[in-house]
Amino acid sequence: MKYFFTILFAIFSSLGFAQTDLRVYDIINSVSADRIGKDVETLANFGTRHTLSDTVSQTRGIGAARRWIKSEFDKISSNCNDCLEVFYQKDLVKKGDNARIVHDVWVVNVVAIQRGTKYPNRFIIMSGDIDSRVSDPADFTSDSPGANDNASGMAGTIEAARVLSKYQFESSIIYVGLSGEEQGLYGGKGLAAHAKEKGWDIVGILNNDMIGNITGVDGVVSNRDFRIFSEPVPPTETEQQRNARRFYGGEVDGISRQLARYVYQTTKTYMPEMNPMMIYRLDRFGRGGHHRPFNDAGFAGIRIMEAHENYTQQHQDIRVEDGIAYGDVLEHVNFDYAKKLTAVNAINLASIAWAPPAPETVEIGGIVEPSAKLRWSKVDGAVGYKIYWRDTTSPTWDHYRYVGNVTEHTLEGIVIDNYFFGVAAVGKDGHESPVVFPNKVFR
Ligand SMILES: [Zn+2]
Repeated sequence: MKYFFTILFAIFSSLGFAQTDLRVYDIINSVSADRIGKDVETLANFGTRHTLSDTVSQTRGIGAARRWIKSEFDKISSNCNDCLEVFYQKDLVKKGDNARIVHDVWVVNVVAIQRGTKYPNRFIIMSGDIDSRVSDPADFTSDSPGANDNASGMAGTIEAARVLSKYQFESSIIYVGLSGEEQGLYGGKGLAAHAKEKGWDIVGILNNDMIGNITGVDGVVSNRDFRIFSEPVPPTETEQQRNARRFYGGEVDGISRQLARYVYQTTKTYMPEMNPMMIYRLDRFGRGGHHRPFNDAGFAGIRIMEAHENYTQQHQDIRVEDGIAYGDVLEHVNFDYAKKLTAVNAINLASIAWAPPAPETVEIGGIVEPSAKLRWSKVDGAVGYKIYWRDTTSPTWDHYRYVGNVTEHTLEGIVIDNYFFGVAAVGKDGHESPVVFPNKVFR
């Protein structure tokens, strides 16, 4: 019977039908705009969640906020037979570390791990931020609701945990609230260091920072557009790897870019009404986000966010000036849109956590030959592999061939010079690993 399905799968794949898993639609439908709205409101009502704010009060400040987030993760866990491991991960940052650290502070992240059944040490991460700020980044007492920046991303992360905790996955999923973002990306740096220390095998981080605004400062209104930011190649690449790119290509094919393409493709497959915009840069012009410290540590990481920002509603003291109402307040967050971007995250977490790992090595050959050749390392748990290719100017993996459960294949008549190539592992339910760009050359 199992063999029959494998054959059926191979036939369907070779005919080019997109593989869809009906559970993915259930995940999309289970995400609740109401619950996200309530959570954004709760977070905004802590008054300020500035990283240096009060930690003792039960009602105001970042201490109360992180205790509430932990209690929500604990609640989700008790509803799924303790399926989440919930803990604080923290680092002490000393006064003067930069100009925004005006007193010693514990930067505390709230982490929830949903452990994978087959690859417990392999992680895909969704993050939001706990902290907020007003005009002066060192002002830790003024009202700073941070409803969109970034209660929206935090609420989306909690909601994704609620929805996905009803399922089991082969790889582990981490839902995390990071702190210290506005003070200098401290929380992400701390968790990335923690991951290195623990030897976590990280597929990537989907960092959500502002997923609730649909009315741009330029007047554009859209509840379907969103952006996926990714850097071209890792900053940790070696001089040798950098040199090799001149001869073999790969300037826009780093691990974070492949993760961005993965999210783009999953969205197009399951939520075709959405308009994902892949932005070929680390982050907005001169600005930062919590995926960066993961990139700095050599991990794949992308930023998912609204397409149309409103700067009068970010990092602002709440005030009216020249008839403009400044401030990141609840009224500007569109919960239905935050729900859509949360669903985008949830289906990508699920797809990656249901898929086998990607091949570790992918080798390419075919120099001065009529056909491109690929071979790759076998993946335990894969039922087959897809070779992807695209025009060198295309941002997306436009062509693929399912080649079955083999570890090498020749693409007859496809000349290596004219395309970029990659390989993905395919699992039994059709879920795929991110595409791996060739990391070795053979003759
Ligand atoms: Zn911000």
